[in-house]
Amino acid sequence: MAPQFPPAILNPEIKYRQLFINNQFVPAKDGTTFSVESPITGEEICQVSRAKKADVDAAVAAAKKAYSPGSEWRTMNPKTRALYLNKLADLIDRDRHYIASLESLDCGRHYVTILAGDIQMCIETLRYFAGWCDKDHGKTIPYDKDHFCFTRHEPMGVCGAITPWNVPMIIFFWKLAPCLATGNVLVAKPSELTPLTALYVASLVKEAGFPPGVVNVIPGYGMEAGEALSRHMDVNKIAFTGSGVTGRKIQIAAAESNLKRVSLELGGKSPNIIFSDVNLDYAIQMAHTAIFSNNGQVCCAGSRTFVHEDIYDEFVKRSVKRAQEGQMGDPREFATEHGPQVSKVQKDKILGLLQSGKDQGATVLCGGGSVEDRKGYYVQPTVLTNLKDDMTVSKEEIFGPVQQIYKFKDVSEVIERANNTAYGLAAAVFTNDINKAMEIANSVEAGTVWVNCFFDMNPTAPFGGYKASGIGRDLSEYALREYTQVKVVTIKLNTPSL
Ligand code: NAD
Repeated sequence: MAPQFPPAILNPEIKYRQLFINNQFVPAKDGTTFSVESPITGEEICQVSRAKKADVDAAVAAAKKAYSPGSEWRTMNPKTRALYLNKLADLIDRDRHYIASLESLDCGRHYVTILAGDIQMCIETLRYFAGWCDKDHGKTIPYDKDHFCFTRHEPMGVCGAITPWNVPMIIFFWKLAPCLATGNVLVAKPSELTPLTALYVASLVKEAGFPPGVVNVIPGYGMEAGEALSRHMDVNKIAFTGSGVTGRKIQIAAAESNLKRVSLELGGKSPNIIFSDVNLDYAIQMAHTAIFSNNGQVCCAGSRTFVHEDIYDEFVKRSVKRAQEGQMGDPREFATEHGPQVSKVQKDKILGLLQSGKDQGATVLCGGGSVEDRKGYYVQPTVLTNLKDDMTVSKEEIFGPVQQIYKFKDVSEVIERANNTAYGLAAAVFTNDINKAMEIANSVEAGTVWVNCFFDMNPTAPFGGYKASGIGRDLSEYALREYTQVKVVTIKLNTPSL
């Protein structure tokens, strides 16, 4: 790994452990806390205040006040909102070494990836949406000579963000930036597994000068804080990333409360289709990255690798070698490729699915089990073949370091098999034949298609799912619609004087 990065801070000071409401760090109303542990060792990092319904009520009330008519935030010039977002980006840039160290400790993600990749994405997301603050305008609508008609894009008001543990900072900012850029206020509930960077960022929100109540961060459990936020009558929108099971619960809670708007970014079982005309070294490396990145804990991971029969045997042989050569270890060390899973629950879920694969006849070419001689939640990098499309492992998201390699013959067959999933988050195709690439790109049911690349993302391009992978889009101009409602104003002209 590149040597120009400073080493991670191994024991970063945990500065904030309480709920952030109204620009203050406060304990939970009932004084309870929960344990946050590091997946690297399985040991407790600290206790964090545990938000429950009463705390959600307080955070929503603070947000509502910040959004009240005539408030500083509500009446702020959009250009000034942009300055605040850019200031927050500056502060994240300033503290990137500390934040990357904290995030790696908290979620087990690779430190350099966070430092060089995630933090950059957060900063770029903030700056991109800062640019939109004074540009998201409505339209004038043709009507007739006696009417003047126009639309306004108005904020939703109080928005909730419920976010997961796999890339905590990135997803936090994918929600926060468009939410604030469009003039809303936010109550964010980070995952109970990884709340520490969101709390630190909350302190930067205050330092950046955002008025009290505009951003509130309330760590807690899904069934407590998440559920209360989803059901809150004063919350007009929930932006969620996480599992399909929870996404459905949030939609039900929204339907049973005030029919709040919901956007969902859920899981995937993304096909990665490799034709025989590719540079094999490149394709093998990209297919490896597509599934082993973040130890397999990526919603859009290339979890079904389809390889053309002409190169299949060679591709499999070299993919196994590639999976075996990565060093396993502490994700804060530069040489480490394979770090831990986020929790024992996730580790056990992965091992359970691996067992089902074995039971149903899949062949384990390498890995296939847990790592017992390390503290923390490590699973061996695994390659599976002899897979059938109807096996549980072919249908369910494993969310672990498990590459599944399937053989295919022709384009129409692979399109059908690629689409034979409930999910539709992403897909990729590797070929030098533009016609094949376009046929795949046009035919796969997925919100993102990568051609000859994987994970290439930019705040300017939308991200979200087809089918059971979600509703709505993060990032880009499309995200603005998720956080605004359209008002039409119709003025009758030439009326008799009133
Ligand atoms: P999860 O859906 O349980 O948790 C995500 C967030 O939702 C957390 O903040 C959690 O506290 C909250 N939550 C849980 N129950 C809730 C409820 N009833 N109401 C409101 N909020 C609630 O996901 P997880 O347990 O962290 O991970 C489980 C699976 O989710 C993974 O195995 C993976 O398949 C998937 N996942 C997907 C993504 C993604 O980016 N699409 C990210 C993480 C996890």
